[in-house]
Amino acid sequence: MNRIGLFGGTFDPVHYGHLRTVDAARMELNLDRVLMLPNPRPPHKLREPLTPYEHRKAMLELALQEFPALELSNVEEFAEGPAYTTDTVRRVIAALPKGEHELWLIVGADALIELPHWKDPEALFRDAKVAVLPRMGFDFKRVNPAYLSRVCVLHSPEIPISATDIRKRLREGIDVKGMLADAVLDYIRNHWLYQ
Ligand code: ATP
Repeated sequence: MNRIGLFGGTFDPVHYGHLRTVDAARMELNLDRVLMLPNPRPPHKLREPLTPYEHRKAMLELALQEFPALELSNVEEFAEGPAYTTDTVRRVIAALPKGEHELWLIVGADALIELPHWKDPEALFRDAKVAVLPRMGFDFKRVNPAYLSRVCVLHSPEIPISATDIRKRLREGIDVKGMLADAVLDYIRNHWLYQ
């Protein structure tokens, strides 16, 4: 049985809050593979200005050089319309080699709050188990107990980094060293992103 983790995100930009926690989740859940799924068209962020997918994917590729156990997946890249997690999981399943797989969808605690409002959460729970990364400042009491009982809360470290904070710091010229990979920071500077 292949144990496969799925970690989707906007990754605008990818940072160590994503990478270190998901790598810890990989070890805790004893996963054989972890697929990182940059979302070209996140349905919950359609109205927000977003860095073009090509840049977000390129930054993720650079960041993954430090995390060789995490793999980039382009399963969403050529799909049409907003990329709902439930559909992404189905597409991953369709693209996997034949065999027995156990899928683990890994999400941050803040995303868990939204899960009941996602497209067809019941289908999602049928296709995958859900594991949750604790996130600084997040109180699990906010989660509907019916959902909390169906997920596995992980013990990965709480890393107080968010992409929103990184973008704000970059706009204001505040140091972001140590929050994201140097190669990603070089890419951001070379492409004049988050000005
Ligand atoms: P933004 O601040 O732009 O909303 P973000 O930093 O939350 O971005 P996303 O790409 O939206 O990053 O998140 C992808 C996934 O990673 C989500 O499940 C989110 O909850 C999780 N995540 C992001 N940052 C952390 C962190 N520091 N610790 C744990 N999980 C995180």
